Amino acid sequence: MTRAKIVKMTEEHLDMEALREAGVLLRNGGLAAFPTETVYGLGGNALDPEASRKIYQAKGRPSDNPLIVHIADMEHLAPIVREIPASALALAKACWPGPLTMIFWKSPLVPYETTGGLDSVAVRMPESRIARELIRQAGGYVAAPSANTSGRPSPTLAEHVVEDLGERIDMIIDGGMVKIGLESTIVDFTEEVPVILRPGYLNRQMLEEILGTVKVDPGIREENAKVRPKAPGMRYRHYAPRAELTIVEGPEEKVTETIREMAKEKLAEGRRVGILCCRETAGQYREGRVFPVGSRLGEDSIARHLYEALRQFDQENMDVIYSEAFDTPRMGQAIMNRLLKAAGHKVLEVQ
Ligand code: AMP
Ligand code: MG
Repeated sequence: MTRAKIVKMTEEHLDMEALREAGVLLRNGGLAAFPTETVYGLGGNALDPEASRKIYQAKGRPSDNPLIVHIADMEHLAPIVREIPASALALAKACWPGPLTMIFWKSPLVPYETTGGLDSVAVRMPESRIARELIRQAGGYVAAPSANTSGRPSPTLAEHVVEDLGERIDMIIDGGMVKIGLESTIVDFTEEVPVILRPGYLNRQMLEEILGTVKVDPGIREENAKVRPKAPGMRYRHYAPRAELTIVEGPEEKVTETIREMAKEKLAEGRRVGILCCRETAGQYREGRVFPVGSRLGEDSIARHLYEALRQFDQENMDVIYSEAFDTPRMGQAIMNRLLKAAGHKVLEVQ
């Protein structure tokens, strides 16, 4: 038995009674985890400094890593920000509700406990109906970082939340597997030109179609591993499995061959080996524990199952993991950003 009360529902069939109960819980300073389309969030009242403190404590998250404030309705944006730039409003119209977080200068309504001491605030309007109804029931403002223990892969199933936080929070809403599986795209509007602080489902090209020029924070580029990213959360080693993870990049045949050789070597040393690959190459691996994350032809499936795969390998006590690179056309940037962080930027290039 876990301490948290677990309730199941789907977006098609909201359990309004449970959502009202969760709303009251949040308004009274409690914590409830809930599904969004990106990953599961750990929610608390964003305007209550004590609730924010509890979130940091439950996750073991450094208190200088700010939380994203989730809203359900557009009229709730103005009260928590100093101003809304026209470009941000245009982006909100195009992408909200959805997997987009925007950074604004904050109004005094938002406590520094929620923003990790910053004068800016991150805001998102999730698409998930469960999330939005919960936010309304809770009074309109829910601070919700990913519902994992800090440093572990983000949760894409309610079971992941139970595993990490079941004993530390009051309630978990189980809405099944999330749709996207990677955290939201973060765009900073506190500078002249909007800046992408974290890649996600919405990529640079999609944002540029709406905003014109968009910059990318140099701190999140892999070749700049030493430049400090502007989003404090991107500085930490994140999304990490317990096993040592290496990404192998190059022509497909070379990659599978190299991974097979390395796997054989490690297995001979008595170590447990996991292999992260796509469905197309899965049949070529004969040794180790093979986890086909998804298909290269349907990159959404790769994004959706990536964290699940990393958690599964943790559960099976893998010592080493070899992963193919997933430079897919639309979400490749976001997928590789998470994978590179999980690997501590360990990449083996084969020719
Ligand atoms: P999570 O909620 O776990 O997906 O993490 C939220 C991410 O948003 C972290 O990387 C934070 O550092 C980032 N973030 C939140 N608020 C701000 C802000 N005001 N300025 C820059 N980054 C932010
Ligand atoms: Mg997180």
